[in-house]
Amino acid sequence: MHEAEKKLNRVVLKPKREKPLLNSHMWIFSGAVASLPEFNDGSILPVYSSDEKLLGSAYFNKRSSIIGRMVAFGDVDPIVAIKANLAHAVKCRSQLFAKEHCNGYRLINGEGDSLPGLVVDRYDDVLVMQIGTLGMEKLKPLLIEWFVEHLTPLAIYEKSNLPTRKEEGLPPSATLLYGADVSVVDIIESGLKFSVDIPKGQKTGFFFDQREMRKIVQAKAHGKRVLNCFSYTGGFSIYALAGGASHVDSVDISESAIALAEQNAAINGFGSSQCSFYSADVFEFLRDRKLNYDLVILDPPAFAKKQKDVVAACRGYKEINRLAMKNMPKGSLLLTCSCSFHVDSDLFQKVVFQAAVEAGRTVRIIGHHTLACDHPINICHPEGEYLKSLLLYLQ
Ligand code: SAH
Repeated sequence: MHEAEKKLNRVVLKPKREKPLLNSHMWIFSGAVASLPEFNDGSILPVYSSDEKLLGSAYFNKRSSIIGRMVAFGDVDPIVAIKANLAHAVKCRSQLFAKEHCNGYRLINGEGDSLPGLVVDRYDDVLVMQIGTLGMEKLKPLLIEWFVEHLTPLAIYEKSNLPTRKEEGLPPSATLLYGADVSVVDIIESGLKFSVDIPKGQKTGFFFDQREMRKIVQAKAHGKRVLNCFSYTGGFSIYALAGGASHVDSVDISESAIALAEQNAAINGFGSSQCSFYSADVFEFLRDRKLNYDLVILDPPAFAKKQKDVVAACRGYKEINRLAMKNMPKGSLLLTCSCSFHVDSDLFQKVVFQAAVEAGRTVRIIGHHTLACDHPINICHPEGEYLKSLLLYLQ
């Protein structure tokens, strides 16, 4: 874009509202904008401070309270910046994983990789894209072309099912974008095998964000009786078995997730004498029995999807933690997690504390969450953090 054109199409911020962008933060709230040009939602526009300084380029959507998301800073061409950030994200992952040991991971982590609105998970040579914003939706052809050229994938799927798409004016979308229709992909994570059903699975198919916590469970599982609640396809269960657990029970409400968890145990060589699988509601499962386990894992879905759900979500977190703590034996371990962005780690800890009080247990924190390394947090944009876990000792 030429200088004159840039000035005509530009977005101008209110006085003193440029500070976050000067610090490379990526969001522009509608309240920070002094003037907008005529534009179609989803377009990339240059952004100026009130004193005429070019701050960079952002895509804009008038429907969203986060009206703009930066894709380039300074006078760097936005498409050049997007391609450079894709290349940086891929380079970063190549430093983290050896293909033989781990070929399933988050390749692009949205704002964490300076690519707002874009998540891409890699399942060996299949990519699954999750697009959260109209601006990124408009860049889809460019993204597909870039991935095909640089990673030669077998297939690229789209699984864009985030609730935030509604605010952006986008319907959910699940489709094959490129290549062969493979559906079920076998991956290796930390040397363990997992089958992932891409079209039918939840989110993009697998939850990579808990990889480091799964390793912690593996390291502590030796000889233990383990209960994995909200097991999905058995991530924590398989790691616990690999760590030498004497028996692992997995519980999930989804019958198809439980069937795949059972299959994942089998392909790793674990038989029915070592593990059992229950398709059940965890609340009822915990309420109904004496929990004769040395280690219990609670990794529920996000109970608070929006700010207004926080109170009800905290009630849910307190209830499952209270039920588990009340029925677990003395000297056992509890790994408790929350992936609700709107429940921050301080609030989560308070809820778990309240659960301990109501269960009448003395509880010690012996470990905190470790984020999977393929979910980088941009230091200029810490809002990317959503997952927290506490490892507890129940006296
Ligand atoms: N720990 C898993 C991810 C859990 S995702 C992993 O490492 O892969 C949350 C899971 O909770 C989903 O599989 C969902 O089916 C399940 N779920 C949601 N509500 C539930 C309930 N009330 N009882 C049991 N499972 C539930």
